[in-house]
Amino acid sequence: MSSKWVYGFHELDTVIERCNDDWDDVRGLLGGKGANLADMTRLGVPVPPGFTITSVACNAYLDAGGRMPDGVNDEIVVALRDVEERAGRTFGSPTDPLLVSCRSGAKFSMPGMMDTILNLGLNDHTVEGLASVSGDRRFALDSYRRLIQMFASVVMNIPGDGFEKILTEVRVARDVSSDGDLTAADLEEVVARFKDLFRRSTSAPFPSDPYEQLTMAIKAVFESWNSKRAKAYRTASGIPHTLGTAVNVQAMVFGNRGSNSATGVAVSRGATTGEPRLDGDFLINAQGEDVVAGIRMTSTLDDLEAAMPEIHAELQHYATLLERHYRDMQDIEFTIENDKLWLLQTRNGKRTAQAAVRIAVDLATEGILTKEEALRRVTPDQVEFFLHPQFDPEAEATAETDGSLLTKGLNVSPGAAVGVVVLDADRAERRASENDESIILVRPETKPDDVHGMLVSAGVLTSSGGRTSHAALVARQFGKPAVVGASELVIDLNERVITVGDIVIHEGDVVSIDGTTGEVFLGSIATRVPDFDDPWLMKLLEWADAVRRLGVWTNADNPEDAERAVVLGATGIGLCRTEHMFFAPDRLPIMQDMIMASTTEDRLEALSHLLPLQRGDFAGLFRVMKGHEVIIRLLDPPLHEFLPDRDRLASELTDLKIRLISAGSLEEIDALLAQAEEADRLLKRVETLHESNPMLGLRGVRLAVLFPEMPRMQIRAIFEAAAIVQEEGVTARPSIMVPLTSTAGELEALHDIAAEMAETIELERRIEIDYRFGTMIETPRAAVTAGELAETAEFFSFGTNDLTQMTFGISRDDAERNFLLHYLETGVLQSNPFNTLDRQGVGKLIESASLAGRAVRPGLHIGICGEHGGDPASIALVDALGLDYVSCSPLRVPVARLAAAQSALDLAEQENTTDT
Ligand code: ADP
Ligand code: MG
Ligand code: MG
Repeated sequence: MSSKWVYGFHELDTVIERCNDDWDDVRGLLGGKGANLADMTRLGVPVPPGFTITSVACNAYLDAGGRMPDGVNDEIVVALRDVEERAGRTFGSPTDPLLVSCRSGAKFSMPGMMDTILNLGLNDHTVEGLASVSGDRRFALDSYRRLIQMFASVVMNIPGDGFEKILTEVRVARDVSSDGDLTAADLEEVVARFKDLFRRSTSAPFPSDPYEQLTMAIKAVFESWNSKRAKAYRTASGIPHTLGTAVNVQAMVFGNRGSNSATGVAVSRGATTGEPRLDGDFLINAQGEDVVAGIRMTSTLDDLEAAMPEIHAELQHYATLLERHYRDMQDIEFTIENDKLWLLQTRNGKRTAQAAVRIAVDLATEGILTKEEALRRVTPDQVEFFLHPQFDPEAEATAETDGSLLTKGLNVSPGAAVGVVVLDADRAERRASENDESIILVRPETKPDDVHGMLVSAGVLTSSGGRTSHAALVARQFGKPAVVGASELVIDLNERVITVGDIVIHEGDVVSIDGTTGEVFLGSIATRVPDFDDPWLMKLLEWADAVRRLGVWTNADNPEDAERAVVLGATGIGLCRTEHMFFAPDRLPIMQDMIMASTTEDRLEALSHLLPLQRGDFAGLFRVMKGHEVIIRLLDPPLHEFLPDRDRLASELTDLKIRLISAGSLEEIDALLAQAEEADRLLKRVETLHESNPMLGLRGVRLAVLFPEMPRMQIRAIFEAAAIVQEEGVTARPSIMVPLTSTAGELEALHDIAAEMAETIELERRIEIDYRFGTMIETPRAAVTAGELAETAEFFSFGTNDLTQMTFGISRDDAERNFLLHYLETGVLQSNPFNTLDRQGVGKLIESASLAGRAVRPGLHIGICGEHGGDPASIALVDALGLDYVSCSPLRVPVARLAAAQSALDLAEQENTTDT
């Protein structure tokens, strides 16, 4: 391998050769920023000349405990000569000095996490040269004071307050409000005082040798790789700590040379909604980080178009060029120096979930991406974000002031959030963990030090900053609703209050923010899940449907849920839990009568009241599903779940007995006696049904075998409902599913009931009943004897939650309360098997059971129901195992559609690579 440490921006071809044409390696070596600067140079984009010191050099430097590897300094001098030639200026020249920036840039972008120093090369002599060639002494001095300030902070770690204080003092003394109004003479004083402060803080003078400045700056950037905040950011974003950062040294261009100069940030498409138009912020007569720092109020690019139309057109031209080149939305830094446009950085832009979807779809529609690529650009999590809550416009406010609009800011990260106001990150972290509160972090602006507080907050609100401010970037990346630049907020960090006009909000008061509109409300507003009608998401999911092999069904117990799932794209009900139909207040007493019945006759009487209710439920589902399959699971939970609690009943009974002793009238005694008798009967029944391990007791198919009149009623209700909707002209496709099966005998018993009932209804109604009969596979024995079960079952549905519990011999509730977290933290388990299917264990059972089942019954229809059905990794697993469908909760349906498409693309790709 070549041991070259330094590459000029024009030397990209050499680097590509060194990296054997692997662009990923190029980015690793030069960093994302450096690679793209070189790439832009090659494309003919106006980029100030410069060079990159590789991340390999950084790692060598850090490994050597802060010693520059041999040869690096020599290569830097050579590369700098070349930049001087290209720029036509000399570094350190007292007449026409070249100034450079020293910019960090790792393989993955870490916005604002590491350090950059601008204007290197200025000292008491060169500043005069800059003043005379530019004809602007004020500008030269302003650049100089910025260098001292930045150098002090980045290289020497001197806190910035002292410098800010000097600036404020001089402004006050001159009676001006902005730094821009300070004269050259004022700035001369500022520079002198800055240098003095520098000397006092470091006990060494500000280094006047430009080469010394540059070397110190490069080392500081290398070292910033290991700064606390950079490490924290990498840990949070999963970026390896071993990559190191490259350093880019680049000729300065100046956005602070008066009204024909500016600096700004542009995105080739909107980062909030993905709208295909150039968007961004800029500041006239400003340098570098002024825009992102959120200190001065920025203007939008529409204003740039009005003020400098040619420049705006040129910027648009390069944005389009770069977007096509990188095949993605670009986030661009630019500077205008005396009416000349320079690009200083481009990278794939961060965006909201909503924007990610729209941009992927638009890029595919414009022919820049294929549909398959567009499908891979969006993550299932981003689809899920669409289903996040929004404020409900119809919600009733809970207090008088609730819901009244407080103020507006910029809508930079969508979604609604309600929480208590907290004014600093540490306190946010504390309140979130100690009181489990929902928090809105409110700051004048945010800095990297605030990230930990932002992560624990429900939403973020700032009083300054623009769309590309730190707060906006971080909030978007972590999917936090955010409103920034709400400039009416006056935040008093000492008194810990916020005022807006004469409204005072104390820390701890509740506010609601809407990151989609930028509105801030007093008090708490109810939220709801938005309508699912984003046209780009619809389009993307349509493409997903064309690619995926797996069916996506839903778990739904009532017509409303089923309806919602159908709108979200479900094409079947994989699990209807009938017990949910019995918990409604008007039904529970009948259910209890049924359970309390001591004779079959009484039980049949109670069941006859349940029959019409069940029939209505099923008919409702069939109507909504319009010919899609509806899998109805027979009653599953242990009966005691429908009865009152044993201890409560016992104490009620004791109570009644005590009251009996002191009862006054005969009527009272009679009434109390009757109550006591009833309570006693209930208690006896509850005690009879009591089990030590109810989840392993009388439930599921065992109930049906013991009390066959129950499944008879349910199956009758199913078939009658099917008959009713058929008569209405709607196709019904009912499937009967037996829960918790362990043996073929259980299944046969239920199959006989279903067959007999079908025959009965067909005779009664004179119609043909088309149904399927199948079983859940939830016990290891069922999985192991799947071949036998397939003799009777026409379909299998893996109840992956119970199957996971029983395969591990773990109760989920107990595990999550007691030891699962410890297992995950210590690496005993890699992931929570209740979230993501356990490939090696449960996955193996699913695989062998499916194979055994299909060996007996080719075409056996197989799916999974349970929460795993909406988990992308589990979806990929069951897709690979050749199952037919997943069934998940209605809101996960869109997520599952995309995940199934991505899995299909992955499987196809694997097949291709094994073929060749
Ligand atoms: P960050 O990673 O924090 O964005 P950058 O290295 O991109 O750091 O630089 C910070 C700011 O300084 C950016 O606004 C950038 O455009 C500006 N900048 C960097 N180098 C130069 C230069 N040579 N001339 C003018 N502005 C520069
Ligand atoms: Mg930086
Ligand atoms: Mg940058």
